Amino acid sequence: MASLWRPREGMEIIDLGGQKYSFVFYHVLDIQKVLDVGSWTFEQSLLIYHYLKKREDPQSVKLNTSDIWVLIYDLPTGFISKSVLKNNGDYIGEFVKSDPGNVTGGRKLYYRIRVRMDVDKPITRRMKLKRDGGEWTWVNFKYERLSSFCFVCGLLGHQERDCAIVYANPDKEITRAYGVWLRAPTKNSKNMNLGAKWLRISGDSSKAWEEGVSNVRDEPP
Ligand SMILES: [Zn+2]
Repeated sequence: MASLWRPREGMEIIDLGGQKYSFVFYHVLDIQKVLDVGSWTFEQSLLIYHYLKKREDPQSVKLNTSDIWVLIYDLPTGFISKSVLKNNGDYIGEFVKSDPGNVTGGRKLYYRIRVRMDVDKPITRRMKLKRDGGEWTWVNFKYERLSSFCFVCGLLGHQERDCAIVYANPDKEITRAYGVWLRAPTKNSKNMNLGAKWLRISGDSSKAWEEGVSNVRDEPP
């Protein structure tokens, strides 16, 4: 994670056990950079994290949501408004914020919102909207930096070969209602080197700016 985040003032990672880790940062801007991106993955698995408040116990934090940037496609012209974007976000999960770029320039191919998603629920593929004339239309969603997910049940954290639905119906032909089209197009990023350069080893976290806790979702072997 250190190699991905590259904190200018370094970071420390404390193993809390049970696949929970505490990430200690030494500057607020280093944390901000991590939070701004939204979702992070570690070896294809979604990193579920929580920004710890002062005196919050990392062990008692519930880790079941992830903030993800979602792209909304096919939004009809008459529907482009702050409240519609918020409704879309609340339909997917819980609307967090709208990309400032949504309101600059002209009409867009897509609109970008940040959504807090419940990682125990299937991904939302699309949403139905009713036009003024009474006819229905679909808006379609794509997700940035989506970790591995199941094309059969739409849940994050496992793939088809480990899906409970597939196991419950071994003789049935598999129906895939989800697919790679749910991934937002990405810019190719160069692979990062080892993160050692950004890691602090000292163990003295008393000077740390803030702490965060995370949990890598288990990926079956
Ligand atoms: Zn599944």
